[in-house]
Amino acid sequence: MSRADRLEAVLHERELGALIVTNLVNVRYLTGYTGTNGVCIVGEGRRVFLTDFRYVTQAAREVDGFDREQGRQDLLEDAAAHLSGRVGFEDFSMTVRQYERLRGFVSEGTDLVPAGRLVEALRAVKDDRELDAIRAAAALADEVLAVVPERGLAGRPEREVALELEDEMRRHGSDPSFPSIVAGGANGALPHARPGDDPIARDTLVVVDLGCMVDGYASDCTRTFATGAIPDPATEVYGLVLETQVASLGEVRAGAPCTLVDAFARDRITAAGHGEEFGHGLGHGVGLEVHELPTLSRAGEGELAEGNVVTVEPGVYVPDQFGIRIEDLVAVGTDGCEVLSGFPKDLIVAG
Ligand code: ZN
Ligand code: ZN
Repeated sequence: MSRADRLEAVLHERELGALIVTNLVNVRYLTGYTGTNGVCIVGEGRRVFLTDFRYVTQAAREVDGFDREQGRQDLLEDAAAHLSGRVGFEDFSMTVRQYERLRGFVSEGTDLVPAGRLVEALRAVKDDRELDAIRAAAALADEVLAVVPERGLAGRPEREVALELEDEMRRHGSDPSFPSIVAGGANGALPHARPGDDPIARDTLVVVDLGCMVDGYASDCTRTFATGAIPDPATEVYGLVLETQVASLGEVRAGAPCTLVDAFARDRITAAGHGEEFGHGLGHGVGLEVHELPTLSRAGEGELAEGNVVTVEPGVYVPDQFGIRIEDLVAVGTDGCEVLSGFPKDLIVAG
């Protein structure tokens, strides 16, 4: 069953005659198209892909199983000509402006229905080929992280280290899946810190969070390094985060409610007195995008399913002092999970 066929089955359940897919990542997932302007329509027995002049040749190579059509650069008007009846649209990603334009173009009697994240829900369950790509992306992230203890951190600007890590990815034919984070000392207490120009101090902790792209699929991995001797409280917190991370891996399996996996980790960190300093979710799905469904957090919906790929990344952030995060990428199985990140998790001194 093709991806579009699976979507068609979902549309049928939702009593939608068709879905107009405008989110480019979703278009890629359904059609194989990797360009930057494209729309597709999936309906009962209907598979239409539209792009503009610039991508016609590329689409002919990439898009299979869809009727290909060349439209004007703003594809909405040409796409609207294919729509009638109850048509879902992607309200999580379509802009208000796009929606207003589309509504102006569709024929009278066409009912535009916000469809939620139908394609994103399909994307959350990976097939074997996708898993292979993510495994390779995770293995490459391991190799890149190995550069950190080899070349050291203390005295070097965070930005220089981040550049070096991304350079390493590119030498391996990959790209970063998001801007790499290298955050020493107090900067590490900002979960999404941006690398700065100040030299990394000695005897501090450094959060390094990076991911690679392989065949369009992302990886995501965090390790926290030391640049020398670490004060006892920080060492204790490192032990707490590590112990929580490892224990949480044991909770990841098909059927586990997303909120409960998060709560398992959160309860441990809270019991140790650091609940307030763990302000983000335990994990997120990873695939064509580095943040996708499912979400392991207090707001997470549903249960984990076999074939989900999620991160498990507890962290403790002590403002103005330090941050500690340990993040593995895992593939969800029926009885547990396959850990795709292989880099060691004991505190490594990268002086
Ligand atoms: Zn990360
Ligand atoms: Zn992450």
